[in-house]
Amino acid sequence: MTTDARANRMVEIALESGGALRIPVTHCRACGAEIFFARTLAGGLMPLSSRPAPDGGFVVTMLQPPTVAGYNDAIPSHRGAPRFSSHFADCPAAGEFRKRIALRKTAAA
Ligand SMILES: [Zn+2]
Repeated sequence: MTTDARANRMVEIALESGGALRIPVTHCRACGAEIFFARTLAGGLMPLSSRPAPDGGFVVTMLQPPTVAGYNDAIPSHRGAPRFSSHFADCPAAGEFRKRIALRKTAAA
């Protein structure tokens, strides 16, 4: 395994229109898990676990930039879309991670 191979990993999200959205995978600095970032509707960045989860609470709703929204069964385009879990929920070091994101947001404001 090379550093380059790691850097080129992508999450593929199949689109209703055919084809797939590809988002670069990164690694959680706290626990090393594979994650990707998507923008929230509020303008923040949310880390999502790179593997789709059937019961995940989030779907990617826009491609440029990748934008995440809470899964809503009442929205037709959400049903059948790949669902993801927030890495906030999965990360063993979530407390510290959340603090760091909050600091970053404050600095950008
Ligand atoms: Zn983590």
